[in-house]
Amino acid sequence: MGVLTGLQPENVFHYFEEISRIPHGSGNIKAISDYLRDFAKERNLYHVQDKFGNVVIVREASAGFEKEAPYILQAHMDMVAVAAEGCAIDMKAEPLKLKTEAGKIYAEHTSLGGDDGIGVAYCLALLDTEEVSLPRLEVILTADEETGMQGAKEIDLSLLQGHRMINLDQEEEGIFIVSCAGGARVDVDIPLEDDFTDRQGMHQLTLRVKGLLGGHSGVEIDKGRGNANWILGALLCGLTLRWDIRLSKIQGGQADNAIPREAEALIWVREADAAKIEEFLKAEEDKYKRELDGKDVGFYLEKVYHNSTVFDKCYTSASTKQAFACLCKLPNGVIDMSADVEGLVETSLNLGVMSLQENGLRLSYAVRSSVDRSRENLCRHMIEIAERTGARVEIRNAYPGWAYRKESPLRDKMTAVYRELYGKEPMVQAIHAGLECGILAGKIANLDCVSIGPDLSDVHTAQEKMDIASVGRVWDYLLAVLGS
Ligand SMILES: [Zn+2]
Repeated sequence: MGVLTGLQPENVFHYFEEISRIPHGSGNIKAISDYLRDFAKERNLYHVQDKFGNVVIVREASAGFEKEAPYILQAHMDMVAVAAEGCAIDMKAEPLKLKTEAGKIYAEHTSLGGDDGIGVAYCLALLDTEEVSLPRLEVILTADEETGMQGAKEIDLSLLQGHRMINLDQEEEGIFIVSCAGGARVDVDIPLEDDFTDRQGMHQLTLRVKGLLGGHSGVEIDKGRGNANWILGALLCGLTLRWDIRLSKIQGGQADNAIPREAEALIWVREADAAKIEEFLKAEEDKYKRELDGKDVGFYLEKVYHNSTVFDKCYTSASTKQAFACLCKLPNGVIDMSADVEGLVETSLNLGVMSLQENGLRLSYAVRSSVDRSRENLCRHMIEIAERTGARVEIRNAYPGWAYRKESPLRDKMTAVYRELYGKEPMVQAIHAGLECGILAGKIANLDCVSIGPDLSDVHTAQEKMDIASVGRVWDYLLAVLGS
C-alpha cells in the first residue's frame, strides 16, 4: 500500500506516487521518460518518445465525441531535485519519501516535485480514465523544463491536431495564466584600445556598487530596484565626460537573467582630479540613494584609492569614454507595459553581466517580451546604437513569447465552467517570464492556451508542499472542462 492510497482522486494520487518512486530531477529523466512510454505502450495508446526524452501520447475520442476539437494537455516530467542541508539522500538514485500532514503532501528532507509531477499525474489519470467520455486528448510531456526548457525547444509537434491547450504547470488554484514572455540573450562587445602612454601623476581607484537586492530579471524588473551594472556604467560615463579616466578592470553580475547586486571597476584617475572626482561620486551616490529610497535601500558606493605604481594593463581614455557612452545610450529596464493586461510588463531588458573580454567590454542582456515583434524591434534598436560606436552585437537563444489573446474561446469556456463550479471568477494573469507555453505556441499554429494547477507552496525547495483538497478540486474542474 502506498502512502497516498485512499486519497481522492485515487488515480491521480496513484500516478503521483508512481512517479515519486522514479528519481526524475532535471538531467536525469531517462527512467521517467521510459516509464511514460511504457504506460502508453501497455494501454495501446499512440505515442512518440524522442531522443530528448519528450513523450507525446494520444487518446482517441470517446464514442460520441469524435466531432469535438481535440484538447492538448501539457506538463513537464522533470523536477528540481533539492535536498535539505545536511541530508545525505542521493536524489539521482533514491525515491522520494512521501508524507502527508495537515492536508498536505510533502517529501521528507527533499523537494516534492509537485512541480510538475502533479501535472503529469493528471495527464496519466485522464489518459486512463473510463469514468468519463472525452474528446481526443493529445498529451505532451516535456523533458528538462527546469534547466532551460530544452525538451520544449526540441520537440516535434507536427503530428498534433489540436489548437487548444491546457498547460498543467501552475502553482496556484484559481489563477489562469494566459500569457508569458519570450526572450533572447544579447551580447554587446564594445572595443577598447590598450593604453601605452605615461601614467605619471595618476593613481588607481576601485569603485564598487554594493548592497542592492537584485532579483529575477523578468518578474522583478518593474520593482524599481537598482541594477549594479547600470549604476556603475552610468557613474563611469559621468566620470569620463569630465576627466581623464582609463579603465583597467571591470566585472559585474553573474547571469544575464538576474538583476545584478554588485559590480566593480578599477580605473586610473589623475591625482590632481581626485578631490573633484570624490565630490562628484558623493553627489551621485546621494542621488541614487534618493532614487532607490523605499525600493532598494541597501545601496552604497565603495571607493578605494591605491597608491600603486604597478603598470597594470589599461585602456585609453578615449576608448573608455566611448565604451561607457555606448552603455548609457543602450536601454535598460522596463521598455513597455501591456495595453491588454493591466500592470503587466510587456517588454524589458536587463544588463545582467558586464565583463572584460580579449577585445573589449562585453555587456550581456536578457531581453524579454510577450510580443515577438517588440522583442525583435528592441534587439534591432540595440544593434543600431551599438554599431554606431563600432561595437558588435550577438543575439542568442531567442525563443518566442505567448502573447495575450483578446479572443480566446478556451479561456471563455474555462472561465464559464469555473464560475459554474465555484460561484466566482478565476483570476486571469500574465507573467513577464518564460514558460513552455511560449515555446509551444511557436510550434502550434493559432494556439489557444491556458495554464492552471493546484496549490503548491515553496516549490524548488525542500519545504515544497502540495494541498490535497486543491488537487481534488482541480481534477473535478478538469473533468468538467474536458467532458463538457
Ligand atoms: Zn514547473
